[in-house]
Amino acid sequence: MQEQYTCAGCGVPIQTEDKQALGYVPKAALERDVIICQRCFRLKHYNEVPDISLSDEDFLKLLSQIGQTEALVVKIVDIFDFNGSWVPGMQRFVGRNNILLVGNKVDLLPKSTNESKLKNWMRQSSKELGLKPIDVMLMSAEKGIGISDVANAIDQYSDGKDVYIVGSTNVGKSTFINQLIKQFGEDDDIAITTSQFLGTTLNFIDIPLNEDQTLYDTPGIINSHQIAHFISPEDYKKVVPRKEIKPKVFQLNEEQTLFLGGLARFDYLSGGRRSVVCYVSNELYIHRTKHENADQLYRSQYGKLLSPPNDPNDECPALERHEFVIKENDMDIVFSGLGWITVKGAGAKVQAFAPKGVGVMIRPSII
Ligand code: GDP
Repeated sequence: MQEQYTCAGCGVPIQTEDKQALGYVPKAALERDVIICQRCFRLKHYNEVPDISLSDEDFLKLLSQIGQTEALVVKIVDIFDFNGSWVPGMQRFVGRNNILLVGNKVDLLPKSTNESKLKNWMRQSSKELGLKPIDVMLMSAEKGIGISDVANAIDQYSDGKDVYIVGSTNVGKSTFINQLIKQFGEDDDIAITTSQFLGTTLNFIDIPLNEDQTLYDTPGIINSHQIAHFISPEDYKKVVPRKEIKPKVFQLNEEQTLFLGGLARFDYLSGGRRSVVCYVSNELYIHRTKHENADQLYRSQYGKLLSPPNDPNDECPALERHEFVIKENDMDIVFSGLGWITVKGAGAKVQAFAPKGVGVMIRPSII
């Protein structure tokens, strides 16, 4: 009988027959010490999201299964892409269980960030998105910032119950769990195993916390409106910040435009001369031009001067326009996954463009 392997990344059973189905690996990959499915492999190494994803049905089964047990749910979001990494519909399914909301990648935000303001905004946004977390925390799984506070909070709020870690892909779930194991594992060889979700092909990764408690890592949910789905892996590397963001300030006159590479556009329409601050990857080129020249420039320079994308033939969905009237002081115009532009002061009219399908929204400035 063939030995049954599971993916070390997401826990699905490994298979070598159907390339399009979950858990596929080429036969030769079974020889490796650590086997990860093609989906996880591509995600990890190329930041590429193949078509295979959790069906809504599987996802709902996953959530309702958590709802049927007594547990603490730790929901991880990427603080740089809060809405893009939000897993919707959780409150209804996780039942009476408490949810601890953790914003990861806080190392990307400028040092001047006011953390309590940021947490208040996370609380407020959660409420608007229908979630009532028991607490809101910030951490950097990669830099090890705030891990012990989150671990203590998990200990406190779980109150002896099991713990489920939930989040969309790329929020840093694996990095976080590895940190937890490194820092708090009682012995070096914790017996990490997998168990199956009832009625699905998906597996939990089980990590024993102590004799009575288990921490379950759930498969990452793929969010189709993340910018990662619209651009090439090379371009994705340029738009995802790897280091603390250095804010870029522009003094804009009315009727001026900023391009975020060739991926997004911000038009300052009216409201007198004022400053705007761009919080995007330090690698992302920002180009300023006159509003009247913007359409023509985009047509002729897309994929050239306006890059990423770094190839004019790399098609991205057409830019969609969103208009905002800014009545209050200091509002952020957020381009999901790309970053945001803070418009200083009140009384401005702006419009923002992003590829169709990529979320654009307004919020009170978080910094
Ligand atoms: P998962 O899909 O949720 O398990 O996410 P991973 O743990 O694989 O992380 C996804 C990407 O985010 C990787 O490129 C990580 O290096 C990066 N990452 C994870 N945690 C952090 C963090 O705290 N800060 C930053 N800047 N990057 C992080």
